[in-house]
Amino acid sequence: MTPADLTFDRQHIWHPYTSMTQPLPVYPVARASGCELTLDSGETLVDGMSSWWAAIHGYGHPRLVSALQQQAGRMAHVMFGGITHQPAVDLCRRLVEMTPQALECVFLADSGSVAVEVAMKMALQYWQARSEPRQRFLTLRNGYHGDTFGAMSVCDPDNSMHSLWRGYLPDNLFAPAPTSRFDGEWDERDIIPFARLMAAHRHEIAAVILEPIVQGAGGMRMYHPQWLRRIRRMCDREGILLIADEIATGFGRTGKLFACQHAGITPDILCLGKALTGGTMTLSATLTTREVADTISNGEAGCFMHGPTFMGNPLACAVASESLALLAEGHWQGQVLAIETQLRDALLPLREHPQVADVRVLGAIGVVESRAPVNMAAIQRFFVESGVWIRPFGRLLYLMPPYIITPEQLHRLTDALARALQKPELFQT
Ligand code: PMP
Repeated sequence: MTPADLTFDRQHIWHPYTSMTQPLPVYPVARASGCELTLDSGETLVDGMSSWWAAIHGYGHPRLVSALQQQAGRMAHVMFGGITHQPAVDLCRRLVEMTPQALECVFLADSGSVAVEVAMKMALQYWQARSEPRQRFLTLRNGYHGDTFGAMSVCDPDNSMHSLWRGYLPDNLFAPAPTSRFDGEWDERDIIPFARLMAAHRHEIAAVILEPIVQGAGGMRMYHPQWLRRIRRMCDREGILLIADEIATGFGRTGKLFACQHAGITPDILCLGKALTGGTMTLSATLTTREVADTISNGEAGCFMHGPTFMGNPLACAVASESLALLAEGHWQGQVLAIETQLRDALLPLREHPQVADVRVLGAIGVVESRAPVNMAAIQRFFVESGVWIRPFGRLLYLMPPYIITPEQLHRLTDALARALQKPELFQT
């Protein structure tokens, strides 16, 4: 990439959550392979992010590349209205098999946020079809569900700046975020405000929506499985639907194939994305029960009112099927356990560091919460100069590497993270 390209990028291209007048520096990546990103300059960086939870098998996995190439030669895309194809059928068959038995019906869409929109629309249409319209969602503070409007309306109101959209966003219900930690004792008092909110609004609530066990972009918090069991029970009692957003947690990241398994619960609607294609293409899936699907289908509309242009994209479906086939071989379990053990050994001692407020590890997720927010440009440069790709936000320095990472590569990540804590200039004062 030439300096002119980088200037063009600065002047014309928006990156995620950036300013157009004062953009943070971006690093040109030329190639990605295994667990490494290669910069234009030729330097290689060990990847600690899996491109935001997605590249679980690493980059350029030969089986994923081959699945893409073979499918590209046959048919890159064809509309899904009135047409079906083998890659979609193969993928949905796998999804129905690997998720809880009650989840039988699959809607394929383009991205995680759209999977959440689809889930919310399913819940609204479900109640509409029962002639008991309900229009509110109950969720947890510190949640994150995406950047489209429905999804934003259930994101943490402060983190996602609901103030910007006042008057436009639907008015949903927010219970305090769980405080009983995954690795701590269950405190019965934790659930009381949630239970009260549900009781007060039980005839208005279409569904509870939450990220099971790990709240990702809203704070990287890991909460007690008893929360999920209690919510499942309350939803059952009131007949309220439960939507589990496993877009970040799905496909092994937390040590179980799906985070709901930590609590042994089945949601009524399940959202999947990110790692679905092994991080190669954008694709999401929303699964639901026969009961929800049939109720919607027997309602006034006679169908589910959603149908994106790129629904069931054959390239994305083919590579997703291959990614799920890789997962089905089961190596991920040992890999994630080994990552968890190494992350615990390397990161938990950092709890003693004066700059550190908390350390949390679950599966292939390691989080170091600092006392002060990071100085983004400075810490990013430090990590790149240390040969690693770690992208913190706010006070959260976290690792979620591809499952194929070697112990040496993981050591480079944890070592760079520990060294960053020794440098006050990398944090805001
Ligand atoms: N839900 C969760 C839990 C997520 O972590 C994300 C993405 N960070 C989304 C939804 C939105 O997915 P996408 O960015 O693919 O729209």
